[in-house]
Amino acid sequence: MCMDISTICVHGCKKKFDTTGAVAVPIFASATFAHPGVGQSTGFDYSRSLNPTNVHLEDTVAALEGGSEAVAFSSGMAAVSALMELFSPGDHIIASDDLYGGTFRLFLHISQKNGVKVSYAAALEDIEKEITPATKAVFIETPSNPMMRVTDMAAVAAVARKHKLLFIVDNTFLTPYFQKPFSHGADIVLHSGTKYLGGHNDTLSGMLVVKDSVLAEKLRFIVKTTGACLSPFDGFLIIRGIKTLAVRMERMQETALKIVQWLLEQNAIKKVYYPGLKEHPDYEISCRQTSGFGGMISFSVRDGKTAERVLENVKVIKYAESLGGVESLITYPMLQTHADLPESERNARGINECLLRLSVGLEAAEDLIADLKQSFI
Ligand SMILES: *Cc1c(COP(=O)(O)O)cnc(C)c1O
Repeated sequence: MCMDISTICVHGCKKKFDTTGAVAVPIFASATFAHPGVGQSTGFDYSRSLNPTNVHLEDTVAALEGGSEAVAFSSGMAAVSALMELFSPGDHIIASDDLYGGTFRLFLHISQKNGVKVSYAAALEDIEKEITPATKAVFIETPSNPMMRVTDMAAVAAVARKHKLLFIVDNTFLTPYFQKPFSHGADIVLHSGTKYLGGHNDTLSGMLVVKDSVLAEKLRFIVKTTGACLSPFDGFLIIRGIKTLAVRMERMQETALKIVQWLLEQNAIKKVYYPGLKEHPDYEISCRQTSGFGGMISFSVRDGKTAERVLENVKVIKYAESLGGVESLITYPMLQTHADLPESERNARGINECLLRLSVGLEAAEDLIADLKQSFI
């Protein structure tokens, strides 16, 4: 039966590991699993390889994304690190130039040391220019962080296919509820499950989703061998979070649009970055490839002093890193998520003392607007 995404969010992909009829997925707090006989297995041997609670989560995320298999990790960065184990010294990867700061830090300090070179491209034309015989993959975030630029996934996929490159999309910001990278040619979809999937600012997790079974097998081997698997307790929380993904995404987007409209009317605001604005340079691509614009807004205030005042004065909104949870959070990308980016790179990307990033939560739009309003004063 073909079900709507909101139904899959609630029920997931139930495999019957439980015989009691429990409606919620049980937490299988077992490190190891007894074998029925020599050379036999229940399908579960050791929780680093497979755990029944996490299998439910993995199958649910695979179904939501339209992939065939997903692997759960202890954090989004654990997922990116595992992903990098697909590559060998001498390999080259092209990444979009506006990336989550932690991913940039991993590429700069870990991947480079391990002999995997990463170069950055701002636009599609630049991706093609960067390709060398050593290039193995293209890695993008769309919308990007924190500048909210949108990449035409089908166009990148065509380039990737032509050059036999893996096309990797970090889908943390929009989630499969608003964007399905596999239907635009992605090979691997990445999530920080800490954000919208979990949705409650209470658990870290990461996911890699694939369509191809050979790739799935490689990733399963990597997690089993390197060990950054998800705890089943945390897996349970992410499953619970996903149950409300559809309603959260709808409400957060609705509130985000109200806040964007209000921000546009404020003298203290120089610029608003939100892909749902008609003036946004990528508005048309967004409309073509996504079914929504999400709940993330970046904006520039008049000067650094105003930015500091906002961060120090907000009351309902918390000044904290992270995003995608029920509590609205505001961050200062320059000092937080993107602090490890060299200053010249930061400035070139517009990540300066005036830029703030807001993750819209589930509070009433009026309260969030009132909070922002009083914070400018
Ligand atoms: C947070 C984040 C990550 C890293 O995930 P963690 O769960 O914090 O390790 C990767 N990509 C994006 C877009 C993120 O927002």
